[in-house]
Amino acid sequence: MTNWSILYRGPLSSCNYGCTYCPFAKTKNTRAELAEDAQRLQKFVAWVKSRSENISILFTPWGEGLIRNYYQEAMTTLSHLPQVKKVTIQTNLSCATKWMEKVNKETFALWTTFHPTQISLDKFVDKCSQLDALDIQYSVGFVAFKEELDILERLRNRIHPKRYVWANAYKRVADYYSEADILRIEKVDPLFRYNTVYHQSLGKSCQAGHTSFTIDGNGDVRSCHFIDNILGNIYVDDMQAILAPRTCINATCGCHIGYVHLDELNLYETYEDGVLERIPAAYRR
Ligand code: SF4
Ligand code: SF4
Repeated sequence: MTNWSILYRGPLSSCNYGCTYCPFAKTKNTRAELAEDAQRLQKFVAWVKSRSENISILFTPWGEGLIRNYYQEAMTTLSHLPQVKKVTIQTNLSCATKWMEKVNKETFALWTTFHPTQISLDKFVDKCSQLDALDIQYSVGFVAFKEELDILERLRNRIHPKRYVWANAYKRVADYYSEADILRIEKVDPLFRYNTVYHQSLGKSCQAGHTSFTIDGNGDVRSCHFIDNILGNIYVDDMQAILAPRTCINATCGCHIGYVHLDELNLYETYEDGVLERIPAAYRR
């Protein structure tokens, strides 16, 4: 049976949070833009329904999707489809959680990010406890700026020990972390070192464009979010003609959602079926 890992990113580009570094902070989509985003998402859901492959999906919206009812409904529907093995989304977890009572807990998971400037640790931990009570699988983390490492440690101490807390490395400044910093962060995220580097990827075998691929709101397919070349369109083309074993055409790959598919890192063994929501096998129920 063919297995596909799909990253979907529609036109949504608004967020209820105001992170200073983010272009989507406190932006609003018009009613017409939201209707368009919903319509494209529903078309994607219908396409998934029509497929017979095993499909795992990670939504990576610009902005925040889960404050929109249509995202909640799409994820709930997808979670119950027999061909869907995983449906997950990157979220700031600011949405209500009651709607998650209706999802299929075996396939639904969340990649949550804590934003220390936007919500208190207490409130965020309370949201995570709600997920625990609902038996929702999730990972949680944020960019590990050196001045916020104590917050990262407090987050780790407050989240259920069986939940994975990840740390993203700040990589814009070379040699930003000392070895002592890395050892400290590894006590929170044992896989942090993978994220501290831009992995040399040019010419290397990667599942992107073969068993993993990116779809935008028009249905256009690309290998991954980091390569612009369009391979085809899910609503027009035969998928067999689009997907094939490939090697990377970029010099490096520095994000989990990319390098996790790079064959030489063998990270599928570490994450097993938690690749998309970033939950290593050791942290799964
Ligand atoms: S929560 Fe995410 S999308 Fe929203 S403003 Fe912050 S970084 Fe941007
Ligand atoms: S290594 Fe990264 S950039 Fe290259 S194809 Fe794979 S996911 Fe894309």
